[in-house]
Amino acid sequence: MTLRTIKDIEIAGKKVFIRCDFNVPQDEFGNITDDRRIRSALATINYCVDHNCAVILASHNGRPKGEFDAKYTLAPIAKRLQTLLKRDVILSADVIGADAAGKSKALKSGEILLLENLRFEKGETKNDDEFAKKLADMAEIYINDAFGVSHRAHASVEAITNFFADDSKAAGFLLNKEINFFDRTLQHPTRPFIAVIGGSKVSGKLQALENLLQKVDKMIVGGGMAFTFLKALGEQVGDSLVEDELIPDALRIMDEAKKRNVKFYLPVDVVCAQSIDANAVTIYTTTKEIPFGWKGLDIGPATTRLFREALDGAQTILWNGPMGVFEIDKFAKGSFKISHRIAESHATKIVGGGDTADVVQRADDADEMTFISTGGGASLELLEGKILPGVKALEIKEEV
Ligand code: AMP
Repeated sequence: MTLRTIKDIEIAGKKVFIRCDFNVPQDEFGNITDDRRIRSALATINYCVDHNCAVILASHNGRPKGEFDAKYTLAPIAKRLQTLLKRDVILSADVIGADAAGKSKALKSGEILLLENLRFEKGETKNDDEFAKKLADMAEIYINDAFGVSHRAHASVEAITNFFADDSKAAGFLLNKEINFFDRTLQHPTRPFIAVIGGSKVSGKLQALENLLQKVDKMIVGGGMAFTFLKALGEQVGDSLVEDELIPDALRIMDEAKKRNVKFYLPVDVVCAQSIDANAVTIYTTTKEIPFGWKGLDIGPATTRLFREALDGAQTILWNGPMGVFEIDKFAKGSFKISHRIAESHATKIVGGGDTADVVQRADDADEMTFISTGGGASLELLEGKILPGVKALEIKEEV
């Protein structure tokens, strides 16, 4: 897939609308606790300013209910943007109301306007054409740089693209980088290509597992989802997280792996507790004899060693999903050790999913990874082999 990028179209001196993903975590006082998503958008914004554009930025933040809610205002984001860009950022009081319309009309070359939270308007999540047209009417060029929401058919992501001709809409640098990394990795991986998949449930990642199985040389499965596979093999998993209704799917996946000669790795031992609790008593046990009433909450030391060895010689590693309940220190060790192992590998290392990005950050391995995706849901849909609605309209169609 090749996207039309901001560099492929004429933007100099024009009014540009950039859909960003400024949906950042904030504490109870409204302070931004992690501004990675804002920083990731700077390249595209600066490129537009350097090309004398008048720049209109738009994003959602949190889940307001289609009307103004002070809790979700973009005011703190405007402030942080101002600090990072070292330029004034004007914030409009509404999204498509009189204030936004007036400020966007008056916006001059080199100036930056941030619209209020897109989800203060009901039309945003409804992919409403009328709302999209009002946004589109503010600018001559549309840029999507919001990878994190590109899997959503929302007005500022999908409907809006219908109001711009092909030479007036494109992907920003961040969106293009995200899509390229996943697309190139999945279509043309340097082998051996190993997927490390974890997280809570098989159901959330079933399609991704099936799609990846067609592409990888090895699949390493940890986290809660491993127990459905282990139970399917007849192991004694105690009270661990199991989706009984997915046991036939788990068997089918393992059978398919065998047919394709994909080496399929599961944990051989686990850290167990009777409850998911920071003060719980823990024991190590093999996955063949987890006592009744105990749950596997992290991979054990033998599994860490097994997975480390399985990762030897990898040329491409794709990691999505923690190996245990990493939010609690006691059950975070397995995820951290796998993070360190992946970080030290010479492979191309791609990390997807919010939780996994968090693990890597906490393990202090972020700088060692080749690429950490900013969007959890969107990256999962790419792994499932789907075309994201927000990306489809920006694709350069092959001549036939
Ligand atoms: P996901 O959103 O599917 O990637 O799952 C991430 C969540 O899986 C994290 O919140 C982890 O706490 C949870 N998780 C990982 N391992 C386990 C496990 N063994 N049992 C229960 N939950 C787990």
